[in-house]
Amino acid sequence: MMDELLPRKIYPSQLGNRDDDFFMKLAFNQAVDAFNLEEVPVGAVVVLEGEVIGSAHNEVDRTKDPTAHAEILAITQAANHIGDWRLNDCTLYVTKEPCPMCAGALIMGRMGRVVFAVEDPKMGYLGGAIDLNATPTNNHKLEVSKGVLAEECRAIIKAFFEKKRIEKR
Ligand SMILES: [Zn+2]
Repeated sequence: MMDELLPRKIYPSQLGNRDDDFFMKLAFNQAVDAFNLEEVPVGAVVVLEGEVIGSAHNEVDRTKDPTAHAEILAITQAANHIGDWRLNDCTLYVTKEPCPMCAGALIMGRMGRVVFAVEDPKMGYLGGAIDLNATPTNNHKLEVSKGVLAEECRAIIKAFFEKKRIEKR
């Protein structure tokens, strides 16, 4: 495999603003870890009051568990950290738009805000394919932002499937 296809981690300044860009870079670095472990490279972090309280990447292959998505693992860590299943004051950053399962978990966990990088027109359930958040009877509504660090997060997913295709030959 060509070296230029290998994704590299991004090291944001710890002295700068801890903004959406900063936290999405941490989620991206989780995706790089997933890539290096041959998992589909999606990463997520959960942030409360400017601190990371959950951080994970996709682990479906290793665990042979279809629920081991980055978002689910990071949500569980965050809930354990605060000792409550209600995550109203938290923000989840994820490198790809959440699937039906993860969008559901975010609503059920009352996540305050969700920021995702890349839209997924096939399986994205926060507007890409379907908007689960728009269900009028939901008792919780997510605040959703998208597009942060989209180029990098799209590139790593593309590189992963290109690598798989090359390896199959
Ligand atoms: Zn998911």
